[in-house]
Amino acid sequence: MDVTLLGTGNPLPDLNRGGPATLVRAGTTVILIDAGRGVMQKIMGAGVFPPFLTTVFVTHLHSDHISDLNDVITTHWVMNPQPAELTIYGPPRLKGIVEAILVMLEPDIEYRLAHHEDLNWQPKIKVIEVEPDDTFLVGETSVRVAASDHKPVHPSVAFRIDHDGKSVVIGGDGIPCAGLDQLCLGATAYVQTVIREDLVKLIPNQRFRDILDYHSSVEQAAETATRGNVKKLILTHYVPAMQPGQEDEWRALAAAHFSGEIFLGDDLLTVTV
Ligand SMILES: [Zn+2]
Ligand SMILES: [Zn+2]
Repeated sequence: MDVTLLGTGNPLPDLNRGGPATLVRAGTTVILIDAGRGVMQKIMGAGVFPPFLTTVFVTHLHSDHISDLNDVITTHWVMNPQPAELTIYGPPRLKGIVEAILVMLEPDIEYRLAHHEDLNWQPKIKVIEVEPDDTFLVGETSVRVAASDHKPVHPSVAFRIDHDGKSVVIGGDGIPCAGLDQLCLGATAYVQTVIREDLVKLIPNQRFRDILDYHSSVEQAAETATRGNVKKLILTHYVPAMQPGQEDEWRALAAAHFSGEIFLGDDLLTVTV
């Protein structure tokens, strides 16, 4: 199973980092988790032809995680040689968001249907709203859902994807909590969005410092990984954006609390699990 960090950025626009998005490839199954800024550019960069994408998971409805969901829908539809369904799993209220996206896309859909004789179907989107403890199958994988804690963003969810004896947990945003701990138990890899508490604290802007109370710090992510006896900790969604040459500093903060392998880096970093 391969995990690719498609976008390692945060809500602030960054020339070098796309918005939050992660790709899991397990056998022939391809799952996109979250659809931040620039996700379709990155997915092409990771070598996935958009029509082959059939499944999207959404961890929560913060704009940085869904800002390009419309582009996922359009690109999947317009590049597909035949009618194909795109299934999107996520927390309650996702249905309303996807319906609203489809309303936003109405003129575009109308223009393309009028223009291309061979394109005679609407985007086929199936939305499945999930709850903690839900389990389901996607292709060759089995998936389990847990509650994450990103309040006041609520509900928010984390996913565990199991395939061929290996497992990946996608924590999404949030602070350590029982649901996440349970999901991580014995997982092969754990992907967590993180902030540098030591740096964020120094920024003289309260709106920025507000993020401290609902995001895992690097140290907290490492502690969650240790409690779960996880083998590989994969960090992403760096706040503030990780600068060239800072990687060792970030890694050291995690390594003080976790003795397994630690991965962090730039967009398109791929970890084989
Ligand atoms: Zn986020
Ligand atoms: Zn968030």
